[in-house]
Amino acid sequence: DQVPAGAGAVLTIDLAAIAGNWRRLRDHAQRSGRTVECAGVVKADGYGLGAVPVARALLKAGCRTFFVADLEEAAALRAALPTGPDARILVLHGPTPGTERDLAALGLIPVLNSLDDIDRWRFLAAELGRELPAVIHIDTGMNRLGLDDGDARRLAGDTARLSGIALTGWMSHLASADVAGDGLNAEQDARFRAHLARLPAAPVSLAASSGIFREASLLHNMVRPGAALYGVNPTPEAPNPMSPALRLLGRVLQIRDVPAGTTVGYGATYRTAAPARLATIAVGYADGYFRALGSSGHVTIAGVRAPVVGRISMDLLSVDASDVPPAALVPGVFAELIGPDRPLDDVAADAGTIGYEILTGLGRRFYRVYQ
Ligand code: PLP
Repeated sequence: DQVPAGAGAVLTIDLAAIAGNWRRLRDHAQRSGRTVECAGVVKADGYGLGAVPVARALLKAGCRTFFVADLEEAAALRAALPTGPDARILVLHGPTPGTERDLAALGLIPVLNSLDDIDRWRFLAAELGRELPAVIHIDTGMNRLGLDDGDARRLAGDTARLSGIALTGWMSHLASADVAGDGLNAEQDARFRAHLARLPAAPVSLAASSGIFREASLLHNMVRPGAALYGVNPTPEAPNPMSPALRLLGRVLQIRDVPAGTTVGYGATYRTAAPARLATIAVGYADGYFRALGSSGHVTIAGVRAPVVGRISMDLLSVDASDVPPAALVPGVFAELIGPDRPLDDVAADAGTIGYEILTGLGRRFYRVYQ
């Protein structure tokens, strides 16, 4: 791909790596020899990397179930993917009031998060005179979305409430799966299983990225990884088993040799301790390069570490590139901000956040390359 001369930053998205990560997650979920479906979570525009290209790559790899957040995301994906059983689109926020008819018309599968959701969905099914598919979400410890304990019991005592609903599955979500050995995982699973024992049988889904790497009992019939597809480490306590899926390069605009005692950027918060060679890069916080990375982050130029100095501006940042060989440092070259030399999770840690937030905060004005 020929990068336009005017592109200040290039975001390369490795769809083959994402598809490879999906296969690795599916194979790991099936390690006990059981068939476990592996869905793909592509909400928030595929965690910032592009829901449509990501979903198409996953579909090619064999993925048949896609999770998005809301109707708008689902409609965009529906228009881009083949219809029918080959690509099921599940909507995590469910049939929020006023969206029911559009969800049904587009053949989308809402996640029903309350008894009220269930009622509105079955009333619509009765009105349309056909069964409507849905997943039902039981909250077991996130205390965020899903039927609470009492409502799940009420439903078990009145399963007529499910008439008209073609039950695609039951789901719940783990709060602490990223923490190895956290007792909440087993607790949530036990609560979930107790409810499931009283409810009509349908495929069950509990684990997202991290859950896939915990006890095999959490795997049930379907797993729903998001972050790990995009290269975030699902096992923060151990080396990352996933492949990096993106590379963010920012162009060097200017280079300046400065004496000791030179301040850099807004607020003049940084002062060089020795003579230094500074490079100014065409990426800033408007591009999702967190302002918190000022003075804590670093980039690489020709593989050599160059620490961020001074505050990050809206469209620019400065690095101390004194260690970069002069021949490799000329205006127009690219610095790596995220990629093989600068892992996403390390950048997130330097910014005091998680890879998820860096991914979904990536700016819109990068020149994007899908490979
Ligand atoms: N399932 C639900 C209900 C979610 O909210 C999310 C993401 O937040 C996922 C699955 C995917 O989680 P992860 O990105 O950790 O794999």
